[in-house]
Amino acid sequence: MSLDVQEIKSAIRIHDYISQLEKLTKLTLKNSDIMLGAPKTKLVVDLPTHNKPCYEYVEQLYQEIGDRDLLMQALRTGWHYISSNGTTIPVSKEKYFQQLNSSQAFHVAKQRGYEIPEKFLTTKQFCYGQYEAYSAMHEIMHGKALGIWSNKANFSNFMYNYAKFYKAIKLIAPQFIVPSSSYQSSIPYILDQLWVASHNSNQVRLLGLEVAGEQHFLNGGHSKTLGNEKYLEKLGFEMYHVASWWCRVDPYRVICEFLKESGIFPEAQQYLIGAELDTIDKYVCGICHRPMVRLGWDWIQQCQIGDRTVYAHKHCVAHKVADKLSTRGRFDVQSQRC
Ligand SMILES: [Zn+2]
Repeated sequence: MSLDVQEIKSAIRIHDYISQLEKLTKLTLKNSDIMLGAPKTKLVVDLPTHNKPCYEYVEQLYQEIGDRDLLMQALRTGWHYISSNGTTIPVSKEKYFQQLNSSQAFHVAKQRGYEIPEKFLTTKQFCYGQYEAYSAMHEIMHGKALGIWSNKANFSNFMYNYAKFYKAIKLIAPQFIVPSSSYQSSIPYILDQLWVASHNSNQVRLLGLEVAGEQHFLNGGHSKTLGNEKYLEKLGFEMYHVASWWCRVDPYRVICEFLKESGIFPEAQQYLIGAELDTIDKYVCGICHRPMVRLGWDWIQQCQIGDRTVYAHKHCVAHKVADKLSTRGRFDVQSQRC
């Protein structure tokens, strides 16, 4: 069967890569947790009050790479705009890709007064896991992936929970700059994603999502901020660390795990098909028996084989349906749900 199908080709390559990484690190990554670190308690930040609303800082926050000072100014002067105008994700996937690929956050941090060593400005530290996690977040926030294959009864329940979650999320900014200590000379952290969620009427939660990259991992450290959360906590940031190798296999599940763990959408995983595949080895197609990954929201689908429900590549399910069509002349959509 066709090896040139992108979803199958990517899956074979990524599963191979993780096997090699396991040999290199002598760690069992395939059955590791997705969430490598999460805060023990929720941190709630009171919204600063300010009488004269102003759009200036909010606009800058939407257009440029954000940092903590800018965010605080924007919250202080423009919460009304952030809360109501609907620009939840100001940065497109394409723009994010460029940001990652050009170490842009460090250049911006330098312009804003941080001392950044030259090697951070010139070395590209591109991590695919970061890009995949951002891309999956985008799709989920645009109504893809979750609840798609739910039956009617579940669907209204899903819509209620999804709408509640969606309404609470006010901003998701990638490559967000936060100081790593109170010393001006310390190199700042660049959070992969910053989520700003409203909490009650005059409070917010600031959730940092960080992909613990293979690079950091192979260099002996785990991630940029893992183990250093104390200072960020003082600043009001909750930090969630997710495994980058899981982001290569199923970034949608990783985002759902973050939504569940943070409590901002606890039911998220129930609406993602295949969420019960809890180790990377289980990501195998029930039809062609080759590895699977979910880099597109519909790459893994559910399919009925006899009396068994299996997960399979989008491609394999489509072919199975086509075969059925030609042999039986019947398209059984209801039992396929695909
Ligand atoms: Zn398959």
